[in-house]
Order: sequence, then C-alpha cells, then structure tokens
Amino acid sequence: SKLDEKDLVMLKKLGSGNSGTVSKVLHVPSQKTMAKKVILIDSKSVIQTQIIRELRILHECRSPYIIEFFGAYINNYNTIVLCMEYCNCGSLDKILPLCDPPQFPLYALKKLSYSILSGLTYLHAKHKIIHRDIKPSNVLMNHVGDFKLCDFGVSRELTNSLAMADTFVGTSMYMSPERIQGLNYGVKSDVWSMGLMLIELAKGSPVWLEEGEEESPQGPEGILDLLQRIVNEPPPTLTNKISPYTKKPYDRQLCSFIEACLVKDDSLRKSPAELLEEPHGFLAGTNMGVYDKDVKIWAKKIRKIHKAKGENSH
Ligand code: ATP
Ligand code: MG
Repeated sequence: SKLDEKDLVMLKKLGSGNSGTVSKVLHVPSQKTMAKKVILIDSKSVIQTQIIRELRILHECRSPYIIEFFGAYINNYNTIVLCMEYCNCGSLDKILPLCDPPQFPLYALKKLSYSILSGLTYLHAKHKIIHRDIKPSNVLMNHVGDFKLCDFGVSRELTNSLAMADTFVGTSMYMSPERIQGLNYGVKSDVWSMGLMLIELAKGSPVWLEEGEEESPQGPEGILDLLQRIVNEPPPTLTNKISPYTKKPYDRQLCSFIEACLVKDDSLRKSPAELLEEPHGFLAGTNMGVYDKDVKIWAKKIRKIHKAKGENSH
C-alpha cells in the first residue's frame, strides 16, 4: 500500500537538522506510529522523481540494525517526505544528557558498537551502501535497547538537491581525514566516525571542541579550522585520560577499541566486516547478546525519563 499525506496524523515534533524536520505521526490505516521526515528540496520535478526512485532501495534494507523504511513521496512540489520506523528513546545525542552522569554505561557502548558494525556490514555487503553520516543523532534506540542506524546516503540526487546545499552542509566533526582530504573514501570512513562517537558517549562531551565550548564551530573559519585539525593532529583518544565524572580512567579495552577505529591512515584501519570477523576483546560476547539484558534494563530507565521530559515540555 502507498503512503498518503492525508492518512498521517501529526502527534509531535521530534527535532530538526540541516536537511529537514522530523515528527512523530500516526498512520491511520495501519495504526502504526511512524517518524516522518520532511526535506525541503530545490529541484525540478524530473529530479524529484529520480530521488523517489533512488529511495526505493530503502524498501529492501531489512535488518534489526537498520531503521525500517515505510515509504517516500513528493508533497507540495518542493518537499520530499520520508516515513520510517519510530524509535521511542530517540537518538543518542538526546539520550546522553538523560544519563546521570552524562556517560553511556560500558555494556551499552559494547552493544552499540556491535550493532553499528553489524548494520554497516549489512548495508555494504547486501546493498553496496556506505552510511556516510554516522553520528549520535543518526543512531536511534528503542525501549528494549535495540540500536538502529538511520539517515544513510542512498540517493545521490537527494544529497545534491538539498535546499541548503551550500558547501558546508554535510560537513561535520565526525568526518574522517581521508574524506576531508577528498581522497577515496569508503566503509572504513564510517568506522572513524563511530570511534569519534564512542569517545563522545563515553566521556560525555563532544571530541574536537576546546574546553568549555558546547557547540560545533559556526561559520566558515571555525569549520575550516576544525577540518584542518582532524587532518593534522594525532587522533583523539581516551587512553590515559581520567573521566571528569567518575575521576577514574576509562576501561582499557574500550580505549584500545577506539584506537583501532581512529587509525588516521584508512589503508591501515579495519573495515566493519573485519572488526566483526576478528573481534576485539572489547566486543567479546556481544555476538551472543551477553549484554542485552543490562542494556534492556538501562533502556527502560531512559524511556521513563524521556517520557517524563516529553510530557513536561507540553
Ligand atoms: P543533521 O541534519 O545534521 O543530520 P539530525 O540528524 O539531528 O541532524 P534529522 O535527521 O532531521 O537531524 O533528525 C532530527 C531529530 O529527529 C533527530 O535528532 C532525532 O532525535 C529525531 N529522529 C529522527 N529520526 C527519528 C526516528 N526514526 N525515531 C525517533 N526520533 C527520530
Ligand atoms: Mg539525522
């Protein structure tokens, strides 16, 4: 069955980013709750048709580590609407501040790493898709503690037609050195982004910012400066650092796993499939779900806080 604008009832706004706005909606005919992403685009109708065609591959992406896709359509000539599975704990950037202290527990980081690597391996092996935008806001969690990837790059035309497609959209502090340098980039670039994200979730603050800075740099100078640092400086690390909250060093295997992800030379960095095939000690047991129970209890707690916060904001 095809999705139709008139079948969707708006429930609440979830957030917005560079490319669009996401809302929680009810699809009345199926009684399914969905996340609806509205993307403003700036392109001719032939291109729009092409985008919808390119997005069709999302129907074939079926994995427990990937957000389910329900459909896409063009609305009002200049917006593309995408409907996907709704995740009721939200994205990791929203979950982090709900933790007290704002750090993910080790068992969650282990399950998260395994889930991301499995999702990336699935996308690449089955569909030749590279994610291209791994960051906390593009990984979602539900109340049973499943982690799922969303917003991966399947449509070249969509990327090209974003209404805000100036040079700095799509630039982020999670970008790998080889991508910044305009070299060939591939699945290993997503491993770099994951490593950077793990540092952020483990220590409770973004990586490339100076002490006291809260937000990513704004404006061309700030961004160019950041990109230069990623290329020129040694990779970020947690090794030999002390957590500002627990006053203890970080888990040794976590530090070593992050080092394996943040190898600057991509020819020496492992791919997601390689990291799963010869698993690092940090991932031991994750393929048998040994942390699932702990993560589920934690996710339930997060869900409660998330819900309470959502109700207060109305
Ligand atoms: P950017 O535009 O830089 O990629 P972003 O990922 O935050 O930033 P969007 O992809 O537009 O921007 O998403 C906006 C917010 O909506 C996200 O931060 C996330 O919290 C929420 N969100 C997105 N998809 C879902 C979903 N399927 N279920 C629940 N929440 C979602
Ligand atoms: Mg996103």
